[in-house]
Amino acid sequence: MIRKSPRNSIPKKHSMELPRRILIGPGVLRELAKVLSELGLSGPVLLVSGHHVIDTVRVIVEDSLLAEEFTYDWTTISAPTRKDVRKVLDAARALQAKMIVGIGGGKSVDVAKLAASTIGVQFVSVPTSASHDGISSPFVSLKDLKKPYSVLAQSPMGIIADLDIIGKAPGELLLSGCGDLLAKITAVRDWELSAKKKGEYYGRYAAELALLGAEMVMKEAERIGSRSASGIRDVLEALISAGVAAGIAGSSRPCSGSEHLFSHALDIVAPNHGLHGEQCGLGAIMMAKLHGIEWQSIATALERLGGHTQASQLGLSEEDIVKSLLLARTIRPERYTILNMTRLTREKALRLATSTGVC
Ligand SMILES: [Zn+2]
Repeated sequence: MIRKSPRNSIPKKHSMELPRRILIGPGVLRELAKVLSELGLSGPVLLVSGHHVIDTVRVIVEDSLLAEEFTYDWTTISAPTRKDVRKVLDAARALQAKMIVGIGGGKSVDVAKLAASTIGVQFVSVPTSASHDGISSPFVSLKDLKKPYSVLAQSPMGIIADLDIIGKAPGELLLSGCGDLLAKITAVRDWELSAKKKGEYYGRYAAELALLGAEMVMKEAERIGSRSASGIRDVLEALISAGVAAGIAGSSRPCSGSEHLFSHALDIVAPNHGLHGEQCGLGAIMMAKLHGIEWQSIATALERLGGHTQASQLGLSEEDIVKSLLLARTIRPERYTILNMTRLTREKALRLATSTGVC
């Protein structure tokens, strides 16, 4: 359903950055080099992946690149940190790379994207799971940046999503992708609120595009939860669309609101418990309640998917949740969300967590 734009939303200049070529389907990784050539890319390619992913894709990628006579080199990274970005930058400079291809779930894509934008070369994204929208957005999230949230880098010029590989990814990665999609419900509400209260630019089209994926997850939770091939493809396409919505908005606003601030706070308070989208899913339940909207439908969708709706399922304590709820608003003070309107006290935070069944 199309909702009205906030009345005092002021259109300001912003630029859109979008991918040029997106290829999705079984076995499409074999077409990597062909796609690079079609995009007019030539010259040495630096391939960035994690230590496990490289074993799954190496033969396919190298056969493809050799057939089109590309020079290439690999670099593996272990975490989404500044040290890993520096490692990729050193390898790219040594190779005189003209493009960087990030192959993996989250960290390799993020590290490769930031490295490519730092040295001004093209970036191509090869997701190996449908776990978050960073596979197509111009934003990057690193663990140890001064800002513990996503920062602008550049949109991938191409995205190659091989469903043979993505279909074999662990189920919790797909659930994380679903949580990241459901998060758009509260992210868009926060964006509307900021437009109304602070006059921030609000793009209705980008907002509606981001919400489409969340609506699909709500409607199709059983089919997606059963990990059917069509369900995985739908989540992947919705995540790509959400990243594109951020590109259209020129900001991460349609994809990331108070529920993402809560997830970023959890990364500080209790690192390495839940996946990004799992944490955002818990956040979305609680932030929806603060917004006064149907928070139960988000929790029900997560349950029908087979995902998590309780802190304990992610090994998180009541104290972790309360601390993170209180910290969330301070993570990114300039981003106006429901947390600025509803100043949470310890008691209110605890009541929010218990009343939504998160604790
Ligand atoms: Zn996200």
